[in-house]
Amino acid sequence: MEVLKGIPVSPGIAVGHVFVLDDVRTRIPRRTVPATAVEREVARFNESLEAAREELVQLTRQAESQLGEDAAKIFGFHLGMLSDKSLIEPIRKRIEQEHTTAEFAVQEQFVLVAGVFGKMAESFRTKVDDIWDVERRLLKQLIGEHTSGLARLSRPSVVISSDLTPSQTASFQGRPVIGFATDIGGQTSHTAIFARALGIPAVVGLSRITEVAEDGDEVIIDGDRGVAILRPDEPTKEAYRAHLQRAEIETAALREIALLPAVTKDGVEIELLGNIEFAAEVENILAGGGVGVGLYRTEFLWLTSDHEPTEEEQFIAYRTCVEMARGGPVTLRTFDLGADKQASGQDVSHEANPFLGCRSIRYCLQNLTLFKRQLRAILRASAFGPLKIMFPLVTTLLELRQAKLHYRDVMEDLQDEGIAFDPKIPVGIMVEVPAAALMAGSFVREVDFLSIGTNDLIQYTLAVDRTNERVQGLYTAGHPAVLKLIKDVVRAGRRGNVPVSCCGEVAGDPEFTMLLLGLGLRSLSATPGSLSALKRVIRNVDIGTCERLARTACSFDSERQVTAYLRDQARKILPDSLGGRSAQQGQDV
Ligand code: PEP
Ligand code: MG
Repeated sequence: MEVLKGIPVSPGIAVGHVFVLDDVRTRIPRRTVPATAVEREVARFNESLEAAREELVQLTRQAESQLGEDAAKIFGFHLGMLSDKSLIEPIRKRIEQEHTTAEFAVQEQFVLVAGVFGKMAESFRTKVDDIWDVERRLLKQLIGEHTSGLARLSRPSVVISSDLTPSQTASFQGRPVIGFATDIGGQTSHTAIFARALGIPAVVGLSRITEVAEDGDEVIIDGDRGVAILRPDEPTKEAYRAHLQRAEIETAALREIALLPAVTKDGVEIELLGNIEFAAEVENILAGGGVGVGLYRTEFLWLTSDHEPTEEEQFIAYRTCVEMARGGPVTLRTFDLGADKQASGQDVSHEANPFLGCRSIRYCLQNLTLFKRQLRAILRASAFGPLKIMFPLVTTLLELRQAKLHYRDVMEDLQDEGIAFDPKIPVGIMVEVPAAALMAGSFVREVDFLSIGTNDLIQYTLAVDRTNERVQGLYTAGHPAVLKLIKDVVRAGRRGNVPVSCCGEVAGDPEFTMLLLGLGLRSLSATPGSLSALKRVIRNVDIGTCERLARTACSFDSERQVTAYLRDQARKILPDSLGGRSAQQGQDV
């Protein structure tokens, strides 16, 4: 048995046999053509371009109807690449000047561009998949179909590959693929987005799974914990079989709970909201029993596009979101770009410590045109339903005041232009820097709400890079310092009569629910998939018990004591459920 740890990108468990997909890129030899044939080669290239474009238009339509808009956007991005002069013109030039075949010119240009992207920050590197995908599409037109190994797939299998392009992942549809695992890849890659859209459990970034997996091997893909287990032994298989059975019962039970109100046993109502990256996910929030959006990570509009979204593109996305929420609250967070989220076309310069650099609200305040463009789109969308605006990573009052100043400017512009908007949009901040948490008492005088972003708050409080797997053991919400900061922020909110919610990952962890309620939180925002599990905890506790639990948890001085205690208490409340399966710490199945 071999257990490999990677990055979970699509939840669920798949148990099956390995299918190694070895679609290596074909190496095209350099071949020149006589001067008289150059024109024909250019024509061949132009035809291949046209055919590839047509194919992508079809695929976009197909993806739109079967996988949703976000998946379709990826093919839209590929289409954009084929119209990008800086990518296409050098190919024509090479054929004309060097008299090479069209296929060789295509290959050379794509190798060059992929090399440039490959050396960039993580979010650019994920675009390399797209580059190979587009190259493959063009080459297919020029040298014929390079039959994908997938065509050989006959029984339900888990696909193992060094990497997968978005098209390869999309082509799993209609094929017996029950899960996949790759050596490389990131959480925000397009491949990951497709996996989630298709509902296939997936783990990426396993480093060497293609080295150790053989065709036909038994394998378990745990898309919840980011683990791939090759050739599992009997006890492990048995544990997963039992887990799958429990999961089935659990899913059915949670579906029923989703329809019930989020009220504690003693009648205290808890607002359950969802965190989303794309407007279409609002549907999942409502299906999971949430009442609105607590965090819309709007930067994903840009991260999944090759350009800064225009005002109109943003307006459409925000309006869609508000309309889909059917009157429920929608909190739009302004672009949280920088650090690990670098968008293509974003004006970035190298930083030694990007997490401490020009990111989030700092980036927006230094790039006012794009900031104001976003505020305009948000304000325009506010005419269609209840919206809230949230500024990320605010560290000083001055930043908040500046952001509000620009917001008021944009309001005035819209007023002058006679464009409708809601003049009373609540404006709040994310508390994700210890400085903001410590100064919460001052911030509450100038905001309409606070939302605690524990993901960053933990990394800045504990000095642990949240993206560095070498220090993940040190990254924990159970650290007494983190608990103390959450407690202080909630208390400041109470005193200032300003609502406080929590939208970090910890809000979606059922083991932390009682603690958060006990600390005084009444609004939680989490990934849509976790809402019904939270609701089950909420419906099984009373606030008095939660407050006692919070007092005990806050009396410990080590994170181990805190997390062990919370796990223990969660199991006492819900002994038969997966309430003990924590998102914060890996656990035996
Ligand atoms: C957070 O930091 O807790 C948060 C919710 O924001 P993000 O995960 O997008 O940084
Ligand atoms: Mg954050």
